[in-house]
Amino acid sequence: MIEFTQADPACITEELRLLRAQLRRFVAEEVLPHGDAWEREGRIPRSVFTQLGRMGLLGMRHPVEHGGTDLGPVASVLFAEELGRSGYGGLPASVLVHTDMSSTHISRRGSEAQKRKYLPRIISGETVVAIAVTEPGAGSDVAGLRTRAVRDGDDYVINGSKIYITNGVHGDLVLVAARTDAQAKGSRGISLFIVEKGTPGLVVARELDKHGDRCSDTAELFFDDLRVPATQLLGEEHRGFYAIMDNFQNERLVMAGMSLGASARALELTLDHVRHRQAFGATLWDLQATRQKLGLLATKLWSARAMTYAAAELEARGVDCVREISMVKVWACEVHQELVHGCLQLHGGAGFMVGTPIERITRDARVQTIGGGATEVMLEEVAKRL
Ligand SMILES: Cc1cc2nc3c(=O)[nH]c(=O)nc-3n(C[C@H](O)[C@H](O)[C@H](O)COP(=O)(O)OP(=O)(O)OC[C@H]3O[C@@H](n4cnc5c(N)ncnc54)[C@H](O)[C@@H]3O)c2cc1C
Repeated sequence: MIEFTQADPACITEELRLLRAQLRRFVAEEVLPHGDAWEREGRIPRSVFTQLGRMGLLGMRHPVEHGGTDLGPVASVLFAEELGRSGYGGLPASVLVHTDMSSTHISRRGSEAQKRKYLPRIISGETVVAIAVTEPGAGSDVAGLRTRAVRDGDDYVINGSKIYITNGVHGDLVLVAARTDAQAKGSRGISLFIVEKGTPGLVVARELDKHGDRCSDTAELFFDDLRVPATQLLGEEHRGFYAIMDNFQNERLVMAGMSLGASARALELTLDHVRHRQAFGATLWDLQATRQKLGLLATKLWSARAMTYAAAELEARGVDCVREISMVKVWACEVHQELVHGCLQLHGGAGFMVGTPIERITRDARVQTIGGGATEVMLEEVAKRL
């Protein structure tokens, strides 16, 4: 198989290059032989989390004093890129929801007691985390969520429902966003709660069947008088919306990273295919149109990659870069769409057959411009800051 290499930006240090080599071995040995079976099962096994935990890769966004390595957003992008490169989109979806989209709320806003209780097992992969924000009636418009949490003595009682929750079926902790102040309008009056699986009233209503990312589990959840102690409130009461917005920076960077990796993989598969496929007395690669098409796609991928690492580096330096990360989420995920469709086209009928890697990668790509802030929502974030 051809390896499509791209020169690294300066923020990818020697330490990160070693980490990447370790991840490539892990993907080759522990993911590729099993990926198709995981797709059929609709989940990745728990052992993937514990193996990544043993490799020290689940703690890159967590503080050293709680067992993490605190390597920051550039490392997260690299991690996402390599998992994305596996060509099984459900793998990075499940793992990155755990590492960058949910558990980071605990290390950023959790109490000392919550950090001590939960972070060590999150970092080892023994506890898998989900984040439950989206509802049947509120997706892009997070401020429209309706799930209620009402204070009752030393507890909160939660009622409502959530949809499309990654790791919601097989995960162990669900971070639930609920409205704690019924009078407050929109974004005000939302709080986050740490809910342990098995708590009475937390119901996995359905395991959802998806078009792509089939090896990540996705749930519809119901909360039926779900009672949690007030100590499970995560961060400040009524300030959950702002915590969610803040953490979107991580989420969007790793989604861009996933797209970069999956795009690189699609390009590799296609370069390999066109160099062997015979047509009109030569290979597809011998046709100038093929070469120029792939040249342009590789150029766009490079632009997305350069932007993504540049934005991760800004975020690492603590620069206000909501605009830049929104741009990156748009560009890396939109280039991903164009690239997989161009690559599938060059596979001809073979690319349309269920079970070929390019067919799977193309299906998995589709969610990237929807989840974690749809392209249009991201462009609004950019436009607001022009
Ligand atoms: C596989 C998968 C996994 C997910 N995992 C999680 C998870 O773990 N936790 C969680 O909380 N959520 C999760 N989600 C939900 C995801 O974040 C939402 O699907 C996303 O935010 C979009 O919300 P929606 O689906 O309700 O679409 P809607 O909000 O109904 O939007 C539909 C479409 O309308 C357009 N649109 C929306 N707003 C605007 C606008 N302002 N201007 C112009 N056009 C607009 C966009 O094209 C958008 O795609 C997941 C979703 C999927 C599909």
